[in-house]
Amino acid sequence: TKFSDLALAPPLLKALAEQGYDTPTPIQERSIPYLLQGRDLLGLAQTGTGKTASFALPILEHLIKTPRANTPKQPRVLVLAPTRELVAQISDSFKAYARHMKFTQAVVFGGVGQGRQVEAMRRGVDVLVAAPGRLLDLMGQGFIDLSGLEILVLDEADRMLDMGFVRDIRRIMTFVPEQRQTLLFSATMPRSIEDLAASLLNDPARVEV
Ligand code: AMP
Repeated sequence: TKFSDLALAPPLLKALAEQGYDTPTPIQERSIPYLLQGRDLLGLAQTGTGKTASFALPILEHLIKTPRANTPKQPRVLVLAPTRELVAQISDSFKAYARHMKFTQAVVFGGVGQGRQVEAMRRGVDVLVAAPGRLLDLMGQGFIDLSGLEILVLDEADRMLDMGFVRDIRRIMTFVPEQRQTLLFSATMPRSIEDLAASLLNDPARVEV
């Protein structure tokens, strides 16, 4: 399989070609078709497997194909990740794959001032990539409204649980629409992740690499 076989829009295929990627990795090859159908997904994959593109590409395809239904101030997509470093990496990947389309994003994480993050949210974004603690903080201050969310991704869910974010994640969920597409990626599948997946995902496709 090549990326060109995967029913992705020309701006995405062009960005992939420019990065020198022509063949999807196993997680990409097996996840992307489900995600393009709008299915929920439970992905068992380590970093380095190409899992970021396996969610970023179908998300960008959704943004290309589906006009915004909510107000421009509300994010359409939220990607939750455990650390500032991972948030920045995910954001860089979106930026690279979205270079030939109209696309806005913001990052939210702790350990830095909130001014620039708040400003970005005020302008309105398609995709918000966030660490749970600062996200809840900004939501509590009224700067972020998740009620228009269409797609939710939990990346490195096992690490988020290990870092003690389970209550934050459950709290964030109470502000997210019931009707949405949900993706959960984890390198390991302990009982706590199975339980979280069971409560957040609706009839998920399961992909293991
Ligand atoms: P990830 O597992 O998402 O952190 O990705 C690991 C690395 O593989 C990143 O540097 C990606 O840019 C790169 N990568 C992702 N997909 C592909 C692909 N299909 N072909 C070659 N490299 C890729």
